[in-house]
Amino acid sequence: MDSEFILKKVCCEYCGSYVSVDENETCPNCGGSLRDVILKEKTRLRLEKIEAEEKSAEEAQRIKDEQDRDEVFDLIKTIAGSAAGGAIAGGLARAAGEFIKEDIKSAFRKK
Ligand SMILES: [Zn+2]
Repeated sequence: MDSEFILKKVCCEYCGSYVSVDENETCPNCGGSLRDVILKEKTRLRLEKIEAEEKSAEEAQRIKDEQDRDEVFDLIKTIAGSAAGGAIAGGLARAAGEFIKEDIKSAFRKK
């Protein structure tokens, strides 16, 4: 079940040398068991992977939220721009403003 974690080298707990992890679980320098250090290293890698996944999930959500906000602001800019440049009466522009406010509220309510 640990096949996804490929260890190349570990530091031997007994002699402190960095040794390649092959099929054997014994240090070629001192003959000490590498079982514990391999287990520790795999646990560390597993935790790192979990943390990285959690971070990327948060990041994806943050980007999505920003994109949603950008879409709302683009809509406001487009409508505000056309209202200011066009021959739309003040009352109509205010009505459009109210409409946008409702639109923003509903846009954020969806989440
Ligand atoms: Zn050793």
